[in-house]
Amino acid sequence: MTEGTERGRAFAAVVVGGGGAGLFAAMELARADAGPVAIVSKLHPIRSHTGAAMGGIAAALGNTAPDSCEWHMFDTVKGGAYLADQDAAEVMCKEAPDVVIDLEHLGLPFDRLPDGRIAQRQYGGHTAGFGAAPVPRSCYAADRTGHMILHTLYQQCLRHDVEFFDEFQVVDLLIDDGRCRGVVAVELRTADLHVFAARAVVLATGGYGRIYDLTTNAVAATGDGPGLAFRAGIPLQDMEFFQFHPTGVPGQGILISEAARGMGGHLRNGRGERFMERYAPTLRELAPRDVVARAIHAEIAAGRGMGGDGGDDHVELHLTHLDPDELRRKLPDLVDHARTYLGIDASARPIPVLPRAHYAMGGIPTDVDGRVRAGTAGFVDGLYAAGECACVSVHGANRLGTNSLLDILVFGRRAGRHAAGYVAGCPAAVSRPGDALRAGAALNRLLRRGRTGARPPVAIRRDMQRWMGRHAGVSRNAGDLAALGDKLAGLAEEYADAVVHDRGKVFNQELLETTELGNMLDVARAVARAAAARTESRGSHFRSDHPETDDERWLRHTLVAKRPDGLEVDHLPVSVTRFPAGERTF
Ligand SMILES: Cc1cc2nc3c(=O)[nH]c(=O)nc-3n(C[C@H](O)[C@H](O)[C@H](O)COP(=O)(O)OP(=O)(O)OC[C@H]3O[C@@H](n4cnc5c(N)ncnc54)[C@H](O)[C@@H]3O)c2cc1C
Repeated sequence: MTEGTERGRAFAAVVVGGGGAGLFAAMELARADAGPVAIVSKLHPIRSHTGAAMGGIAAALGNTAPDSCEWHMFDTVKGGAYLADQDAAEVMCKEAPDVVIDLEHLGLPFDRLPDGRIAQRQYGGHTAGFGAAPVPRSCYAADRTGHMILHTLYQQCLRHDVEFFDEFQVVDLLIDDGRCRGVVAVELRTADLHVFAARAVVLATGGYGRIYDLTTNAVAATGDGPGLAFRAGIPLQDMEFFQFHPTGVPGQGILISEAARGMGGHLRNGRGERFMERYAPTLRELAPRDVVARAIHAEIAAGRGMGGDGGDDHVELHLTHLDPDELRRKLPDLVDHARTYLGIDASARPIPVLPRAHYAMGGIPTDVDGRVRAGTAGFVDGLYAAGECACVSVHGANRLGTNSLLDILVFGRRAGRHAAGYVAGCPAAVSRPGDALRAGAALNRLLRRGRTGARPPVAIRRDMQRWMGRHAGVSRNAGDLAALGDKLAGLAEEYADAVVHDRGKVFNQELLETTELGNMLDVARAVARAAAARTESRGSHFRSDHPETDDERWLRHTLVAKRPDGLEVDHLPVSVTRFPAGERTF
């Protein structure tokens, strides 16, 4: 079902990405009868990274203990080191109960209390009001919450006749005179280019953890949406804030869910001390992630870590004191992963853990309806972004666990709703001759023959990832960031000459990975530039040369834009409606 043009397909709306945010936006557009809606996704939607989320969705339902949306909002703002826009955080926390009930009605099989209401469990930084003890706020389906979200929403999209273009990778955005009118995608199976004309485009391409060498993110998390936007002149917001999850695993790209600490798991250092008592006396292991990740980093740096082969690179997560049956029932995948990937029975032995690159707080700047900001003023008409690729900003300088699934659902739904209203007032979309020219030229450049000497793209990628891990990790400083900026500029130059060796057309993985590398290099440069500019420490951004938080100068958002002569830094004010910036003790 298309609006039918001869040169390409045309839709009322095209959603780029079939994760939780994209599926919800598409379903909402379809529920509103906006006209033909398509999801264009480089993966089959069910394989999106949302499926890896175990812990749950935050919502102040108050089913197992008293709770309120106001407490949730306060925790979100304080957890985010007061950089979250409070008007946006309020929207998210107020809509949380409704979006969870919406999902339940759509068929998501939440775990339940004996009386049939949705069960809830504890997560880091979620408290019973203004710094008190932890409160159970996460709604979950065992440790398969994200998987269930994908299945529920995918089925609903099929039911509402959303058209799917799976294994199509979007490589260009069509924007003329401040208005977006479609995208260009490569079909992975054939390497053919397709133009998708649309009255509205929703970017929902997920995170970009793959800019780091050691990350919990899936291989597809390459920042394609932010990369496309950046090259179209749209600035990226708060890129210096990248979250390191405290409980990654040495030598593996897997994650031990925070739900394990929510159930009562303890962290111990090489001396057997429960060290979080020193860093966060009230919340201990359930302090926000930036606090726990930094504490682990400090313990290891002080020589109080432990390591298998004489190293000193991790601490341990103890679940051995928890009821083994309850552990297996509530976290079955976690128990399985520990056994399969580490050979550890989590009820008998502690699990080695250390911080790993996990979640992007920054991204494409939007308002609470997903409309993409053109800069410090105005919007790009017809262009929306939602999910991890967007920065609304509700997480500020550090996201609380379970607030991301909430973010993708609330703002996926809101972007879909607003886009449905927008397309109703627009003329039908048409593609124009030459729409695919720019994308075609870029692909041909990568495929051109006869060039030698350039390093293979995979070598450039490995260099970028290693440098990001070493110079823009849990702790940063001016010297490292300056060296990183220079290195990335050099790699970008090298990339301009990159050539892929596989010149085939069928599932040319190297070609597509190389276009992803172009996005990652742009995104990584924006991270390095923003991190160098922010001369203070806040949330996930810790500067060893500027360890204090400086509200007077830095209680503001960063925007980094790509200009012909380099990267330009600008700022947006933070919306403070209820909670003035205060001390961040836990
Ligand atoms: C291991 C792990 C566990 C997590 N656990 C939790 C948790 O318990 N609770 C919580 O709140 N958060 C959790 N998070 C974070 C949360 O899961 C993610 O932030 C969220 O799922 C992102 O959803 P999304 O829809 O924005 O993107 P994704 O689910 O990543 O989907 C991105 C989509 O974009 C498509 N795409 C990307 N680029 C292109 C392109 N160029 N062309 C076409 N399609 C493209 C992909 O095919 C994919 O369908 C976890 C994250 C990880 C990595």
